[in-house]
Amino acid sequence: MRLSRYFIPVSKDVPADAVVASHKLMLRTGMIRQSAAGIYSWLPLGFRVLKKIEQIVREEMDRAGAIEMLMPTLQSADLWQESGRYDAYGPEMLRITDRHERGLLYGPTNEEMITDVFRSYVKSYKALPLNLYHQQWKFRDEIRPRFGVMRGREFLMKDAYSFDLDEAAARVSYQKMFAAYLNTFARMGITAIPMQADPGPIGGDLSHEFLILADSGESAVFCDKAVLDVPPPGAGFDFEDKAALAEEMDKRTRYYAATDEKHDEAAWAQVPEDRRVEARGIEVGHIFYFGTKYSDPMNAEVQTADGDLVTIHGGSYGIGVSRCVASIIEASHDKNGIIWPDEVAPFGAGIISMKPDDESVAAVADETYAKLLAAGKDPLYDETADRAGPKFARMELIGLPWQVTVGPRGVKSGTVELKRRATGEKEDLSLESALNKVIGG
Ligand code: ATP
Ligand code: MG
Repeated sequence: MRLSRYFIPVSKDVPADAVVASHKLMLRTGMIRQSAAGIYSWLPLGFRVLKKIEQIVREEMDRAGAIEMLMPTLQSADLWQESGRYDAYGPEMLRITDRHERGLLYGPTNEEMITDVFRSYVKSYKALPLNLYHQQWKFRDEIRPRFGVMRGREFLMKDAYSFDLDEAAARVSYQKMFAAYLNTFARMGITAIPMQADPGPIGGDLSHEFLILADSGESAVFCDKAVLDVPPPGAGFDFEDKAALAEEMDKRTRYYAATDEKHDEAAWAQVPEDRRVEARGIEVGHIFYFGTKYSDPMNAEVQTADGDLVTIHGGSYGIGVSRCVASIIEASHDKNGIIWPDEVAPFGAGIISMKPDDESVAAVADETYAKLLAAGKDPLYDETADRAGPKFARMELIGLPWQVTVGPRGVKSGTVELKRRATGEKEDLSLESALNKVIGG
């Protein structure tokens, strides 16, 4: 992408209500624009990152055997009357009446709707286990929307729903999501720690929140440092291997990790002192097993091999896709701007042409751009006539993993400057070696 033809409304001024780093940086880099409290437009740069995260989530859900679909944002109030949550949910639910006086709501979550889909079509145990998911906008009329897209009112969530014949099978489905979440967050370049959680308004008895450590987090977190060192299951993980699934969960839950809500001083005292981490955390995902909480009132039943009718056991599994964008920035930035992890960066590399009106500089910069484009590196090419200082500052602020700078002095001696944003390391290299590094890593 040529920067001169792109739309990145970089701005110096951020409103006073932007207090956390990610909110400030998302506004300064022109990633988002607030449209109303807790409601945002995703401008091109922000939208690119959102789509990358959505794609990682999709690939990891698919790998774990979940099936993608799409449900609408607006839901019928009737369904929520059936489950009993229409009255229970409270003022966070945005309720809407249509021209025929029918009750609608902007979905804060989708247990009811997916249970309705399930019961309409699935009648036999043979269809189980089944896990359906979508990535769709949610609305929760948060009393205090804040920190930008971190706690919005409208936000993008991935929500998956599992259906099983009994509790034992449902636990396996739960473990699959647990393992998939570890891979998902690792690919985004963040370490999310699973912690025992209260099931809350969704109900149930087995639940973990996934939190990343960040100073701006809303929860206090207590965890054994050892849990941070357990590697994710990885791309080769076999989701059909039940022993391996159970082990992935055991490997982490054997270490203490809890938010303030679940913190237990007695258990904490058992953790060796030099391994105790007390920090702040951001919840990026939450998984629940809730048994028959929805299938019971909504009559989601299947026939077993013996011909008996049984109520299915369910679970739901959320990831705050839009919150992840802000969370990654919280975990990865410095005083100059964002430091995008490779897999979620809006562009793979930035190219700065120091003197676009100099023919020899333009020729090398154009060649760099053409080659990175051809290699699928999706470069952002700053060939604007702006001064060098502001160009560097802007590229640093946007925080792409690699910066290739083409200037008159280097062009004379046959080199370009390659900078790795994460380490600040700079090297003068031939164009070929620089390209090899960017394309190879
Ligand atoms: P929180 O405790 O942060 O309010 P929650 O427990 O109500 O979140 P869940 O119902 O578990 O949220 O939703 C699944 C995921 O959706 C959360 O883990 C979080 O990442 C994301 N999420 C929830 N509320 C918001 C919001 N207001 N803005 C952005 N993301 C959100
Ligand atoms: Mg939650």
